[in-house]
Order: sequence, then C-alpha cells, then structure tokens
Amino acid sequence: MLQSKLYLLLHCLFIMISSLSAQLKCDYCNLEISGKYLTTAGKSYHDNCYTDHIQARCQYCKKPIDGPYNVHEDKSYHEDCYIDHIVPKCDICRLPLKGSYITDFWGTAFHEHHSEEFPECSSCGRLISDELTGGGYDLGDGRNLCGICNETSVSDDYLIESALNQVKRLLASNGINDFPKHIPISIVDKTELKQKSTSYSDAMQGFTDHNTQTRNGEVILKESHIYILSHLPMLMFKAVLAHELLHIYLFEQDLNLRPDIREGFCNLGSELVYESDNSQYSKFRLQSMLESLDPDYGIGYRKMSKLLYQKGWMYILEELDNIR
Ligand SMILES: [Zn+2]
Ligand SMILES: [Zn+2]
Ligand SMILES: [Zn+2]
Ligand SMILES: [Zn+2]
Ligand SMILES: [Zn+2]
Repeated sequence: MLQSKLYLLLHCLFIMISSLSAQLKCDYCNLEISGKYLTTAGKSYHDNCYTDHIQARCQYCKKPIDGPYNVHEDKSYHEDCYIDHIVPKCDICRLPLKGSYITDFWGTAFHEHHSEEFPECSSCGRLISDELTGGGYDLGDGRNLCGICNETSVSDDYLIESALNQVKRLLASNGINDFPKHIPISIVDKTELKQKSTSYSDAMQGFTDHNTQTRNGEVILKESHIYILSHLPMLMFKAVLAHELLHIYLFEQDLNLRPDIREGFCNLGSELVYESDNSQYSKFRLQSMLESLDPDYGIGYRKMSKLLYQKGWMYILEELDNIR
C-alpha cells in the first residue's frame, strides 16, 4: 500500500514536470519537447535530435562517439579509428607514428629508432632497407650504396665516355673548353684513391693527377689523369667528373689558386651538373654541398657560387686569378 502511494506520488511529480516544461523546445528542431530529452551545455534536445545531429561523430566512420576520443586537425575520431586510419604509418615497419619521428629529404617518415638499425646510403642519404630502397650494399670501404642509387652506378667504359662528352658539352656551353683531346679516366676504390691523391680527405670522390714534362726549362708536355671513386650513381659521377675537369682547366691555364677558391671553383662544375638536372636526387646533392662545413668544398664553394650568381661565368673565368 505504501509502495503504490509512493509510485503515485512520483507519477504526479512527473506529470507536473511534463506540464511545467510544456514550453520547452528542442534546440535542434525547434519543436516542443515531451517525454525523454537531453540537456547539454545549457541546451535541450529530443533524444533522437541529439544522437542524430548534435552528438560528436567520428570523422572516419561517421558513427557517434561515446567515451574517449582523439582530436586531430579539429576533427574528432574514435580512438581505434584514429590509430588505424588517421595516424601516419611508419614507411619502414608500417606501425603508427606516435610522438616524434623522422621525415627525411625524400618525404619518407619513420620511427627514430630505425636510423640506428639501418645504414644511410652514402649517395642519397636514404636509410638502406628493403622497404625504402629495395636493399643495398656495404661497399666495404666505409660507404653504403642503396638499391636505387646502385641502378645507375657507373662502371663500364661506354658509360664513362658518354658521361665525359656530356659534361664537356655542358662546360663548353658556359665558355669552358680547350681540354686536352685525350683525358684518361680510371675508376678506383677508396684505397687506390687514397694512394693517388696527395691531400686525401674522406669526402673526396675523385682526384686528378697532373704531370708536366719540361726540357731545358721549357714545357713540352702537360697531361692529366682523372681517378673517380667506384660505384657512384651516374649523376654523381658526372658531378665529380665536372669538378675534376675544372681542375684540368686550371692546370692547363697555369692557374695556382688558393685551396678554397680552387675547390670552390671546381665545385661550380658539380653545381652545373646538378642544376642541369631536375631530379630530387640533384636537389639532395646540391643541398649537401650547401650544407658542407668543409672550408674548401663547402665554404669556398658557397663563396664562388655567390660570385657566379652575381657576376656570371665570363667574369669568373677572366678574374679567377684575382679573386680573394
Ligand atoms: Zn528535436
Ligand atoms: Zn570511428
Ligand atoms: Zn617504424
Ligand atoms: Zn641511395
Ligand atoms: Zn678538387
């Protein structure tokens, strides 16, 4: 008896609220609310109006969100939808990239720990892995070459000859010619390069040996021999070749320049090769040259490159001896 009374009382109370809220309108559809409704942020909604139109929805699966969720670029996602479909994935292990990660020059993103697991390609800087480069090679002399760079790696005489002709044409189009008719080019490994060169540095990719023969104090023969490191991809090979050809140019003109002016000038040849090519690889190589801290190959190069940009090739060639 007591229980049924209580029930009745509650019932009366409910009706009262219901009649009191007769003017209550849904903030979504603007129609009157009767029965069950929801209130949030000071606004009231029909149950259906709320779930169908107001409740936050996952921007991936479009279903309403209850419980924890992630916000990314002002959009909300279920936790699972976010991790499975929105978070970028590592290009090496395919797992989500949460927290800080590395994006390399090539736009590849990967977990930081992979840079300790895989060697860097000495030519393009990519991490040598099956996923990114289709594997690669340890050249056994401190260098590693990725599968991509290896595809154009220069070794046979035919390629050397055609590279030489192309680079000579490129230099000639900027007023640099009069090279000896025959220029021997040998491909060597790092140990041989070290033996040939007089001032070896680890960044060295090539070396030119000059030889002058005199008789009674008079020059009767001048010859140069270019040595280039093995396993260089074609573009880098041409860039090194252009650098070495400019050494020959200086030798033929009897120009003895200060090391930073000399190497900076010769690097303009490499710059020319890379700038005549529109690939990402060339951009990567140019960037490495711009970032080099070497006093001659880096600082000297930037000095000469600036001068070239301001005054042009003709000025550089005429004034080489006077540049300080
Ligand atoms: Zn409504
Ligand atoms: Zn979702
Ligand atoms: Zn990873
Ligand atoms: Zn590479
Ligand atoms: Zn040099």
